[in-house]
Amino acid sequence: STPIVMACALSRMSSIGVLVKGGDYLEKLAKIKIMAFDKTGTITRGKFSVSEMISLSKDEEDVGLDKMLYWVTSLESKSSHPMAAALVDYCRSKGIEPATEKVKDFQNFPGEGISGIIDGKCIFIGNQKMSSRAGCKSVPDITSEHKGGGTVGYVLIGEKVVGYFTLSDDVRFGALGVIRELKNMGIKVAMLTGDTNAAALRVNNKLEKAIGIMHAELLPDEKAKLIVDLKKSEGQIAMIGDGINDAPALASSDVGIAMGATGSAIASETSHITLMSDDLKRLPDIVKISRKTCQKIM
Ligand code: ADP
Ligand code: MG
Repeated sequence: STPIVMACALSRMSSIGVLVKGGDYLEKLAKIKIMAFDKTGTITRGKFSVSEMISLSKDEEDVGLDKMLYWVTSLESKSSHPMAAALVDYCRSKGIEPATEKVKDFQNFPGEGISGIIDGKCIFIGNQKMSSRAGCKSVPDITSEHKGGGTVGYVLIGEKVVGYFTLSDDVRFGALGVIRELKNMGIKVAMLTGDTNAAALRVNNKLEKAIGIMHAELLPDEKAKLIVDLKKSEGQIAMIGDGINDAPALASSDVGIAMGATGSAIASETSHITLMSDDLKRLPDIVKISRKTCQKIM
């Protein structure tokens, strides 16, 4: 009767919009001790709003605000990061359209930012790690901490910071309830993010500090390594994420779960389970279904 019980559970999952790549993952899910959440686009909506866009240039002719908006929107129009769409919309609202086709040598650095050449200028956009990569030795003293946990992005020409922007993102509706429910089910909850510590704290404060384990400023491989460490210290681990930057961590966890609607294709491909609706409430639901299924089998 085992295969029938399993087949029923899998079909039940698909009826609630959850795709599972095999019965093994249900058995693993039934036994998880810890669930690690990505922040941006997973606990938060991934729908940013831009609060500041500042040009630091003294030479307005050369790098005035309009010029900066033009570079930002042109480069970001090639990025699939949740921040990118908000930046393009913001620039559009200021009357500046992206010149996507003018961007040469575009590169994406997951967990850091993007770069490209436009009008002969080498532009870098991203966090402090991106600035260091560009060769910048002194990033202006404008950090996420000063901005109440907002995400700060720097705009550089070569190694020189010529401006910055700040954005923030709201916690998903119902996220706190889901975290509480998982904890009531005996599952520890962690948050892993490529964003700053201040941004992670801001989100946890909105969640009434329900998250006990937090790690920030992680590159994709560091997220994956943390999954391995948490598995050693806590036991069977599930990870839920949406981005390209989450793919190594999803693959390293016992059960990798992807946000299927808004997440990147790479996250879905490397995961074992996909939430087609992006609804976090499905997480306690699927753990319950898998626990019940395994009780019936054993
Ligand atoms: P998270 O782990 O919370 O999902 P990411 O790893 O996707 O965050 O991103 C980490 C940081 O990298 C962002 O907070 C941002 O500072 C920077 N970053 C990534 N992609 C971009 C981009 N397209 N433009 C600007 N900054 C970016
Ligand atoms: Mg993310």
